Amino acid sequence: MKPDILISACLLGQPVRYDGKSNDQKVAAYQAQIHQWQQQGRIIPVCPEMLGGLPTPRPAAEIVQGQVITHDGQNVTDEFQSGALKTLQLAQQHNAIAALLAARSPSCGSDGIYNGEFNGTLIDGLGITAQLLEDHNIRCFSPDNFQALLEYLAKT
Ligand code: SF4
Repeated sequence: MKPDILISACLLGQPVRYDGKSNDQKVAAYQAQIHQWQQQGRIIPVCPEMLGGLPTPRPAAEIVQGQVITHDGQNVTDEFQSGALKTLQLAQQHNAIAALLAARSPSCGSDGIYNGEFNGTLIDGLGITAQLLEDHNIRCFSPDNFQALLEYLAKT
């Protein structure tokens, strides 16, 4: 049986982003492949921030010295960590080996995150959920690395 794949719910068109929008345009070029996975029942949609109990819409947040802080100064680290843990548990229940996650999010970002100063500057680093998944051998890919995800799945 082919393995399941965790996918950010916003990439699947669910309006769960902090601003109440979705991110499905980021994977528009890969709809045929994603549709095939859906038909095969292999997709697990997740929004770690909502799993952590945060509402939509919600204030934008960034990681500042290991803590997740919103634009208006609330510390939402506990919610982000709770959502990350629930996402990991879901992945493990389904024996998922890979995740396709929205880029630059403080939860889902897997190839860079914002620097914590809300000025649009990217730095190396992973979102809270992406880090936890990687720590448990669930490889995370952004839409920009879709080809690498396909190659990884082909090797497993
Ligand atoms: Fe999308 Fe992840 Fe942010 Fe949820 S937490 S809106 S799935 S990027």
